[in-house]
Amino acid sequence: MLFETQQQSFRNTYGIENVTTRRELIKQAQDKLTQESVPSTAKEIEWLLLEADSISSVELFSKPNAEVSEPVAQTFKAFVQRRLAREPVQYILGYSEFFGLRFSVNPSVLIPRPETELLVEHALDWMAPTQSPVVVDVGTGSGCVAISIKNARPDAHVIGIDISADALNVARENAIALNTSITWLEDDLYSDTIIDRLRKAIGGGRAKLLVSNPPYVTPNEKGSIEPEVFMHEPSEALFADASGLKPYQALAQLGLETLSDTGMLMVENHNDAGRKVEAVFAEAGYIGIERHRDLSGKDRFVSARIRV
Ligand code: GLN
Repeated sequence: MLFETQQQSFRNTYGIENVTTRRELIKQAQDKLTQESVPSTAKEIEWLLLEADSISSVELFSKPNAEVSEPVAQTFKAFVQRRLAREPVQYILGYSEFFGLRFSVNPSVLIPRPETELLVEHALDWMAPTQSPVVVDVGTGSGCVAISIKNARPDAHVIGIDISADALNVARENAIALNTSITWLEDDLYSDTIIDRLRKAIGGGRAKLLVSNPPYVTPNEKGSIEPEVFMHEPSEALFADASGLKPYQALAQLGLETLSDTGMLMVENHNDAGRKVEAVFAEAGYIGIERHRDLSGKDRFVSARIRV
């Protein structure tokens, strides 16, 4: 009875009638999303079916006309219903790919962005000659930056900091799943305790790299953000102060207190803010400051050295 009621309600809200093959389900979902003007790629819809049906993409492509059982169809329709409410596909799936690894995600963490992979790539290139570097990731979220670095450099001591206990739970889970050992620290970049606690976590010496993808969207941009981001991703991971620069000022200070003379600060930034972040770091006394662009040619991150 309950089953029938649920089925009925899916039909009412979603409008898909008794379709049974994989191909048909995908097609109808695509039509519905298009009709409701929800941006979605065929790939995303396929991912939802793969997840609902617990099958591989090879299985889907080799047997697109296989019948889908009613419970699987219902699960898939519920996923599509969530997309219709503009929930990002990664939260529906419960994971996201980053730097060739799979990270669990939920709404307490920002979904890893492809442009942040460039930050990781640059960090890894830069510290390639350094043995056993200490790396600190501030605002680690899902842990994607910290864990990707540790995965590529098992000799590094990586410390991931976040203000959110829920985010750190996701990061911990990801580190365990990906077999990486990270030191996690729950603290606020603006707290009085962070310098001492980070120094303790570093354990005596100083860090080689301080990396961060801080919240950098300014509140006046709220109106222009995609509903997927605005309605579903954690606002404390997205929004900075009105100037958008407060996180960079605090990161610059934290770097001065915890980086070695040969250390580097490397931060992701808003594409409009490259020059301003550069100025914040110059003002704080950093040298060798460089702006780096993303694949679409926009300023995306800044690196700065301490002394050497
Ligand atoms: N790049 C993200 C976006 O465009 C913002 C991430 C951040 O604030 N650090 O939504």
